[in-house]
Amino acid sequence: MAPLSAGHSESVSEAPTAPGGSAAQGAETAVAVQHSVGPDPYFPANGDARYRVHRYELTLDYRPGPNRLAGAARINAIAGRSPLAEFQLNLADFKVGRVRIDGRQAHYTHRGGRLRVRPAKPVRPGAAFTVEVHWAGNPKPVSSPWGGLGWEELEDGALVASQPIGAPSWYPCNDRPADKASYQISITTPSAYAVVAGGRLLTRTTKASTTTWVYEQAAPTSSYLVGLAIGKYETVLLGDPGPGGVPQHGHIPAHLLPRFSRDFARQPQMMELFQELFGPYPFDEYAVVVTEELDVPVEAQGLSLFGANHVDGARGSERLVAHELAHQWFGNSVSIADWRHIWLNEGFAKYAEWLWSERSGGRTAQQLAAAAHRLVASMPKDLRLADPGRKSMFDDRLYERGGLTLHALRCALGDDAFFRMLRGWVALHRGGAVTTATFAAHAARYASEPLDDVFNAWVHGTRLPPLPRQESRIPERPTHPPTNAEPA
Ligand SMILES: [Zn+2]
Repeated sequence: MAPLSAGHSESVSEAPTAPGGSAAQGAETAVAVQHSVGPDPYFPANGDARYRVHRYELTLDYRPGPNRLAGAARINAIAGRSPLAEFQLNLADFKVGRVRIDGRQAHYTHRGGRLRVRPAKPVRPGAAFTVEVHWAGNPKPVSSPWGGLGWEELEDGALVASQPIGAPSWYPCNDRPADKASYQISITTPSAYAVVAGGRLLTRTTKASTTTWVYEQAAPTSSYLVGLAIGKYETVLLGDPGPGGVPQHGHIPAHLLPRFSRDFARQPQMMELFQELFGPYPFDEYAVVVTEELDVPVEAQGLSLFGANHVDGARGSERLVAHELAHQWFGNSVSIADWRHIWLNEGFAKYAEWLWSERSGGRTAQQLAAAAHRLVASMPKDLRLADPGRKSMFDDRLYERGGLTLHALRCALGDDAFFRMLRGWVALHRGGAVTTATFAAHAARYASEPLDDVFNAWVHGTRLPPLPRQESRIPERPTHPPTNAEPA
């Protein structure tokens, strides 16, 4: 967690393994802070940089038949550097029953997805305060250029996949990726349904015909990464985590179990590879849910959501299994300060697909880079990775060019420095929020020659540079055995 004294700036977490010493580390932190205050350039209506949240406690009751959600949130927050006379949470069209600050009734208005709250007295700069909100209604997805986001009622259950702005479809939040908090989520629903959330299941209590599931996610989590699935699922353990290993569970409709068992069989090996290349898995456990209805898989904190269409029993979507797992490091643990920097999530997850392919006997990263290069060459050359614009933030070119950029850096740095750079990045910014400028400054510390040309051409330019070339493969045996310093 960020130190409380930092106000609403997005300082990074403590970094015991930062190479280059404290001066460089300070410079990297300063870059992160400088770029991340103020409204999000792509979604100015979401989030509020005048305060930050450090914990959400959500108590929810959900009835799948009538699709009825009733919730109470207890939000522990800290005011920024100015007195807080009013602030905003994002919450979709629910009936709001009560808003209190530190136990006292607060004035509020609720319009257009924004819950504006005015405390009886302004909160002092840097002071901690608690907001309580009660709400109820029929949750539905938030509409967006990418279709409905957030809470989705399924034929028999519900699913939450919020990237980028779907979180307010089900709970009040400071909806900006840089405002990361811990979560405790309690959900009561009819006992026939299973509830899966990212994090550790603390208790499951059945009373009469309902069951209450309580999950705890202690790691700092962006609001859009709080995922949820309510449905009829079989639960299986993938592989044997062994002592100190990461428990990996699958939650699948029973009829998909045979196909799932084949398609996700190699996920434990991916976990091993990514820990070797990126450093220890950043959370306590990892779960995947396969639901009947989902166009594209989506990452959440400690959890990934797939559709039935992604399991074919022939590993047809294995690259996506790798992609979503890689987001746990890139996007979830190391998050972006605002949405302009989305390539730091998607380009890295794309490159992780190539690394998995290379290691598992498929095409090499070089071959996949060549294919990506051909693809991008055939498309319009007007996308800038560093600031793609809201319309293009999930454009194919952002993913492919993002992967190519990592490949270009690997070619420029060499394998040893490149993977040390990635591990340093993950260790230094664990639980924090970063920008493209932070990354450029970080990568430069591992290079013997300046990397400005690489960043200018690939990240800041729109023309397609020539395909970078390198012939090395990641070694068959780890040169850096994973250090599992994390508690299991
Ligand atoms: Zn992705």
